[in-house]
Amino acid sequence: MARYTDASCRLCRREGQKLFLKGERCYSPKCAIEKRNYAPGQHGQSRKKVSEYGLQLREKQKAKRFYGVLETQFRNYFDKAAKKKGMAGENLLIMLETRLDNAVFRMGFASSRKEARQLVRHGHFTVNGQKENIPSFTVKTGDTIKVKEKSASSPKFKEIKDMSISVPAWITVDVEKLEGKVVAMPRREDIDTPIAEHLIVELYSK
Ligand code: SF4
Repeated sequence: MARYTDASCRLCRREGQKLFLKGERCYSPKCAIEKRNYAPGQHGQSRKKVSEYGLQLREKQKAKRFYGVLETQFRNYFDKAAKKKGMAGENLLIMLETRLDNAVFRMGFASSRKEARQLVRHGHFTVNGQKENIPSFTVKTGDTIKVKEKSASSPKFKEIKDMSISVPAWITVDVEKLEGKVVAMPRREDIDTPIAEHLIVELYSK
């Protein structure tokens, strides 16, 4: 499977904001955005006027990078979102938000979406009792996501039991059981990812 392998921090610097791709480091003074908040490369510090198209493109790139989705898959999400009832931009964000890797991250079982994706791929979770190792799997209302019994004794998951986790309104978590539940579909106001989705809609509507 294709995957973006360049240094994660360069992506944040390119977007000019934290994308929270590296877990704890993102909250520390070691974060590259804290130290060098300008685009990478030779001309990174020069100021350029950004066109309307440039703004739309950057917003799409940012959304892809936040959720760790590559171009083709992102476009497929958009095409499906545009066909659904309601607003295409909101539908798109909801589809990204209900990916299994994102749900695992939101439940606090991983420190970043990147780590969540890896944990899912390595088969550490079940959905409604069935092993599920596809990060793009879509969760729905009523689904229970649980750390597999075999994995629960690993230090990674043991330490979660001592953490206080705050979750968005559409999920609940029982840290003792290492289990989370999707109690509703996320609404736009539940999604705190700083993305202006209308710019993505404008980009793809050209
Ligand atoms: Fe982005 Fe995290 Fe790197 Fe900071 S530490 S630049 S938020 S990936």
